[in-house]
Amino acid sequence: MNLVLLGPPGAGKGTQANLICEKYKLSHLSTGDLLRLEIANKSEVGVKAKQIIDEGKLVSNEIIINVIKSFFNKNKNSSGYLLDGFPRNTAQARLLDKLMSEFKNKISCVIQLDVEEKHLKERILSRGKEEGRSDDNEETLLKRLETYFNETMPLIKYYDEAGLLKKVSGVGEIMHINQLINSIIDRL
Ligand code: ATP
Ligand code: MG
Repeated sequence: MNLVLLGPPGAGKGTQANLICEKYKLSHLSTGDLLRLEIANKSEVGVKAKQIIDEGKLVSNEIIINVIKSFFNKNKNSSGYLLDGFPRNTAQARLLDKLMSEFKNKISCVIQLDVEEKHLKERILSRGKEEGRSDDNEETLLKRLETYFNETMPLIKYYDEAGLLKKVSGVGEIMHINQLINSIIDRL
């Protein structure tokens, strides 16, 4: 089973991804987490990525391709994957389709975590205080939202037309949202 989690910054993708991966034994691909690891290691990719992330833009597809290829290499024998934060634009979605068909695999479902903009600011600013992520501030958030609307939202239509999209409200109790997601997965 291969799942994609789609949603704006602060939608709760990482939180739900951890719960889903634990229950269904999937390997968690978070491109955001992998990029932050590169930044912490001060690698060449990390140095490039930090500047772009702090501007609220998407890092280049070239960097992302390397990040995901190395992830799939390290997790070759997994029974399934949960993709969190990837794909984020149409070029990445096409790349994913290509990788899936190369490995005779397919996307089982795309779960859209739906959260209104008014909740996102509050969540991101409080996470900024707790975790100190340098992109979790008001100015960068505005750019991240703009990037999401312009580049990532078109994927909702893309996956809806492919018959893969399921929408879940990402507002409310974490465990309640998780149950809604689990019931979608159990019906696949
Ligand atoms: P949240 O962590 O609340 O889900 P988010 O989705 O904005 O918020 P991450 O997924 O952690 O956060 O991504 C942080 C940043 O890393 C993005 O704003 C972007 O700059 C970069 N990034 C992550 N994934 C990709 C990707 N697939 N393509 C391009 N850039 C990416
Ligand atoms: Mg995340």
